[in-house]
Amino acid sequence: MQGIYLAEIITTGIAAAIFVPVIHRLKMPANEWLVWLAAAIAVPLQPLAFYFVRVPLDHWLVAQLGGSGSTTYQWVTSFYAPLTEEPAELLPLLIPAIRRDLGVANFVRYALAIGFGFAIGEMWLIAHFVARVPAFAALPFYLFGGYIGERLVTCLLHGAFVSVSLWRLRSRFLLGLAGAMALHWLLNFPILLLAWNAGGLGKIFWTTINQIWLLLFFVTSLALLSYFTFGRFSPGRALFGRRRCPECITEYDAPMFAINFGLTRYERCPHCRHWHWTKAFSQT
Ligand SMILES: [Zn+2]
Repeated sequence: MQGIYLAEIITTGIAAAIFVPVIHRLKMPANEWLVWLAAAIAVPLQPLAFYFVRVPLDHWLVAQLGGSGSTTYQWVTSFYAPLTEEPAELLPLLIPAIRRDLGVANFVRYALAIGFGFAIGEMWLIAHFVARVPAFAALPFYLFGGYIGERLVTCLLHGAFVSVSLWRLRSRFLLGLAGAMALHWLLNFPILLLAWNAGGLGKIFWTTINQIWLLLFFVTSLALLSYFTFGRFSPGRALFGRRRCPECITEYDAPMFAINFGLTRYERCPHCRHWHWTKAFSQT
């Protein structure tokens, strides 16, 4: 088996190990069968959007512009993913039962499920592309660490993007969809800078910027989902939950920065300001 396909299977396994329990345990009332149905429907949507919308669109555009080398072409292509993928992620809503079940109280859960399914389909399609590149075909799976990390982050990003659309499902829906598209476009924007080698700063510089940008989006997505879930920006809480200080016995949202050992962390209590070992603490 080609290394990239093994990397794809590993990534799918890790993503499932993270997202399935989170989506299952989220305390948001929803028909769980419908939540998983939405995730399953989302799996083939990225490849379908790619082959049935994006590729024909691209052929048409290349014919209009007389080639694919121009800056105009690159600008326009940067809109492909946001314009095709954000509407595609809403296709599970064509099932009336899903549309009825989805509401203010559970849209984040649906968004995470749809984003997870969609990202799985996308990671398979990308693995398929990588496998066709002769330079990559013979590489072992452990050299695809970049693919694994990027694809795992993407699972969350797709969930965050579609959450913006679902958030506005019943009032000013187009505004929500436009917001999701804008976020998606912003995420991809530094890829253009890399392609242009903007400012002549070099491939390594722009690749690094792209990776930092991806991390920034990861934290922003956590903050956004946490805002939708808890009503405030607390990415630490989204990741590590509520904590209780063993010294002053007050509860607080997990801070982002701490020393992590699985669910046990060495962190600073925001009340007594002392450092402690804490475990995740459920306040329900
Ligand atoms: Zn304390």
